[in-house]
Amino acid sequence: MSDAFFHVPPAVNEPYLNFAPGTVERARLQEAIAEAKSKEIEIPMTIGGEKIKDGDRISIHPPHELNHTLGYYYKGGSEHVHKAIDAALAAKNKWEQMPWQERGAIFLKAADLLTGPYRFKMNAATMLGQSKNPWQSEIESVGELADFWRFGVEEMTKMYAEQPVSAPNIWNRMEYRPLEGFIFAISPFNFTAIAGNLSSAPAMLGNTVVWKPAETQIYAAALIMEILEEAGLPAGVINLLMVDGPVAGDIIFEHPDFAGLHFTGSTKVFQHLWSTIGKNIGKYRTYPRIVGETGGKDFVLVHPTADAVPVVANLIRGAFEYQGQKCSAASRAYLPQSLWSSIEGHLLAELKTVKMGPVDDFTNFINAVIDERAFDKISKYITIARDSDECDIIAGGGYDKTEGYFIEPTVVVTTNPHHQLMEEEIFGPVLTIYVYEDDQFDEVVEIVDNTSSYALTGAIFARDRYVIETVSNRLRHAAGNFYINDKPTGAVVGQQPFGGSRGSGTNDKAGSIINMYRWVSARAIKENMVPVKDYRYPFLSED
Ligand code: NAD
Repeated sequence: MSDAFFHVPPAVNEPYLNFAPGTVERARLQEAIAEAKSKEIEIPMTIGGEKIKDGDRISIHPPHELNHTLGYYYKGGSEHVHKAIDAALAAKNKWEQMPWQERGAIFLKAADLLTGPYRFKMNAATMLGQSKNPWQSEIESVGELADFWRFGVEEMTKMYAEQPVSAPNIWNRMEYRPLEGFIFAISPFNFTAIAGNLSSAPAMLGNTVVWKPAETQIYAAALIMEILEEAGLPAGVINLLMVDGPVAGDIIFEHPDFAGLHFTGSTKVFQHLWSTIGKNIGKYRTYPRIVGETGGKDFVLVHPTADAVPVVANLIRGAFEYQGQKCSAASRAYLPQSLWSSIEGHLLAELKTVKMGPVDDFTNFINAVIDERAFDKISKYITIARDSDECDIIAGGGYDKTEGYFIEPTVVVTTNPHHQLMEEEIFGPVLTIYVYEDDQFDEVVEIVDNTSSYALTGAIFARDRYVIETVSNRLRHAAGNFYINDKPTGAVVGQQPFGGSRGSGTNDKAGSIINMYRWVSARAIKENMVPVKDYRYPFLSED
């Protein structure tokens, strides 16, 4: 209880370290990697604050160094799902009563711990566990996650400050209650920041959460939990559950107190979860909120007036950073015939300089893909391209899983803009290019809009402002994040709120106030200062 309206410190995006040769940060990161590799850790589930080492003990290996063991996690079963739900419900009342500034302080402290004492440890965990180079790890597992926490607290206060008008004698108020029940957060492997945000955003607003991270992200997920606990998150507010998705889903989606799903992952899984929730709709005390950010087939459209050199740099970054395993990765490009020869020559020359290998060698731009399932799926698409008369692999095409799941950055040129490789999400380092005749630009804009069921990110490269303006309008619904003369990846919290529509998700813009609104159920309160004493309205009187 406090007699003041507090202001939170203004949120500022966390500056990134660049790890250039000779910097202190480079040396400290190398030390943190060596330290992490020098031991095998044990990762328990965290349920109601209790550390649980039950069930199967599963080893964790860096995707780029399969013969190294980073540690072990404990995979639970249905009894742990029940326990996690019970813990979330038991913690709920006290947590929801906690004043917002105390909840906010926990997440602000978590951000400062992450960017301070935990910075290198978190980078090492994400680099080793998910096979990211230093930059890819720094911008998200440290930068983006801290931004989610800091901007989240700020957005929360903006939402709470939103109040209705009042007529004379009346005081109208709105309060933003957490949802009744518990939230189920399911996170993907590819971003530590997303894992942290899916679990934290509802919690920040007074909800309690059962969080199931992807199996291949558990090594860094456990560190998020450690940071939140050190920041003072009470037991049971976020419960880290390590079980197979369907094991959790089968119990949670039947539970009357299930109040919301915060999901990021593939479209297929999301649609399955949504239909399960739909089938069970009569079982819940409240209509569950469903927030899901899913797949993408993200485009780069280049107009003949574009500069070829930035197109090449942005295609390489957009398509191949983190091995193309970003929902926003550029995976289909439309290039004009008039620029093609200069783009092709430069692209192939630049790709020759791109190195692939383990994360400990900082000269590697490309590391491994996440696991064998991803490796097999991506290499299958390369085989499809190799076997197709409509495709020509002009760069890369090689893959090898002897030491790690390595797939070369691969560029395919197709003569068919509706080829499977132009339409399906591959989620790997494969960029497919369609070269169009310059006078067909208009038709190509139509093709960009109608080719895929997704609408996550997309980019236009052009110098002609009429073209930029027209294309921005015509592709209005083709991407939830649209870029002009920039790659379609790398959204920053507070700057480019992220999310897509159509098959790409509910577009609730992670880290923004739009997302916050999904985790509250507002209550409008009307207080009448001078209540009426007579039921009769004036019109009832006789003339
Ligand atoms: P995935 O769908 O395979 O898994 C996501 C999560 O769902 C994991 O935790 C997984 O264990 C869980 N899961 C799977 N089946 C389940 C079930 N039946 N019940 C409950 N949980 C279940 O996705 P992934 O491979 O981890 O991530 C890659 C996908 O995520 C890509 O499609 C990518 O585009 C998408 N993604 C989207 C965004 C975005 O913001 N739009 C961001 C990152 C990733």
